[in-house]
Amino acid sequence: MRVVSLHRDVLVVTSALLQVNCVVVRGAIEPDAEAELGGVAGAGAGAETFVIDSPVLPDELDALPALLEQAHFPAPSGLLATHGDWDHLLGRLAFPGVALGCAESTAERLRASPGEAQRELRAFDKDLLIRRPRPLALGSVQALPVPGRCSVGDRELELHAAPGHTADGMAIVIGWAGVLVAGDYLSTVEPPTLNDGGDLDAYLATLKRLHPLVASAEHVVPGHGPVLDSGRALEVLEEHAAALTQAT
Ligand SMILES: [Zn+2]
Repeated sequence: MRVVSLHRDVLVVTSALLQVNCVVVRGAIEPDAEAELGGVAGAGAGAETFVIDSPVLPDELDALPALLEQAHFPAPSGLLATHGDWDHLLGRLAFPGVALGCAESTAERLRASPGEAQRELRAFDKDLLIRRPRPLALGSVQALPVPGRCSVGDRELELHAAPGHTADGMAIVIGWAGVLVAGDYLSTVEPPTLNDGGDLDAYLATLKRLHPLVASAEHVVPGHGPVLDSGRALEVLEEHAAALTQAT
């Protein structure tokens, strides 16, 4: 597992398996609001943390709480998933009591195929002889309106629809940090893929929607593989759009 800090409020944790990226984001709470909440005004320690997607290996998930603590990020009050593929849904194995939020489209997918993520996780673990201390329970999933906004501390995340790779999903802009969390798009280690429920036209429309977000971001975090700067991510976007258009 590799951990990189993109900004004082943003960490990227990359799993040793599948190079899945998990993004940890901290939103500050302004001193006044903090005092109202019972914190120490002006201490600046008040903040809220969300964890977006997840690493894959049990040891990596177990290490997440200590990692956040070391980085002086408060324990997460929310988990987010960019989409409903099992490899992005494992946050609750690290933080069992924390609610999972996702796009309405993802909540709908999880409702329509209960147990799918658990089945795929079990099959994956079986192949690789991975043992987990407890089964995955997604709990009550919170559906977020997309496009929309979601507060973390006194900051806001922007949520943008990102279907195509699958039928569901969202990309997340961490505006104050210049970070775009793209979901399973713009990867340099995985060609553009249509999974179950994926759709070519929706994929191309998502790339188009992501274009201005990529252009104005400083760092683009794909679902899998290296974090890209804006210029490189734009190249990848064009390459993927061209490859998919040719395929039709
Ligand atoms: Zn994935």
